[in-house]
Amino acid sequence: MTDNHSSSNHVSAPDDAAARKAVEPVIVYPNDTLSPPDLRLYRAARTTAEKIDEVVVPPREAGTFRAQAGQFFRISSVDGPQVGDLNLWADGNLDERFYSGKTRALHGTHVTTGERLWSSIPYLRPMATIIEDTLGWYGMDDFGGSVHDVIGTRCDPYTHHLLAGDHYHHCCHSNLTRALADATGKPMAEIETQVHDVMNVFMCTGFTRDTGQYFMKASPVRPGDFIEFFAEIDLMGALSACPGGDCSTTHSSDVANCYPLKLEIFASQEGTLGDWQSPLPNGYDRSHGR
Ligand SMILES: [Zn+2]
Repeated sequence: MTDNHSSSNHVSAPDDAAARKAVEPVIVYPNDTLSPPDLRLYRAARTTAEKIDEVVVPPREAGTFRAQAGQFFRISSVDGPQVGDLNLWADGNLDERFYSGKTRALHGTHVTTGERLWSSIPYLRPMATIIEDTLGWYGMDDFGGSVHDVIGTRCDPYTHHLLAGDHYHHCCHSNLTRALADATGKPMAEIETQVHDVMNVFMCTGFTRDTGQYFMKASPVRPGDFIEFFAEIDLMGALSACPGGDCSTTHSSDVANCYPLKLEIFASQEGTLGDWQSPLPNGYDRSHGR
């Protein structure tokens, strides 16, 4: 692997470089002032929740789903190891969408049980909370890799065209665009700009320590593994079964073995969520100092 940083850097280090580099980091967004989700309440409600819908997303395609505030949605591996690219919107307002960058800033590069997926500015509120993750055991491996990242963007035909020059039509971006067009009845050219940076469900990724480059490796997911979310607001979601399959080798082509992903929606029973309330949009007054 080429060292992109040093090969283009002709600046000599100052005398106190070592001291400057030895400064300890601080967490940018200490998140201990966020009110924690009541996982015990959510899980108790889940025990009596009833399955109301199921969507099987075919390989190299995407499917859409809706989950109302207070419902649950589960994404499961079936048939073989497969990663999924997840987009979320507020149902009825595509302007409020999953904000992977701020979710990453608040929780870290990868998310698991007890962490939340946050929506875009100016809404910036929890969209969904992870209540179960059968890959929660994975943690961080020796390469700095972990699962369920919020650092990747989605495989897309534009980047592929830049790098390879051809036209591939089943990247996650295209799969999500087709699925969203079908779900909304809007033309692809109009709806494509609503597709956004994803949560990479089951994908195992990190940044190389030497060059800081985004890497992927074979997902540890196996059939039967799942991740489950509590919908904090009314949601529309789209999930693409990435053409990279388990993302052990390549993507943006039909080369990798690909498998379906299963989506299930569960409705809570009346009264089981106590005095839980769907979060309101962010409370900042939006005056921006004027
Ligand atoms: Zn993909």
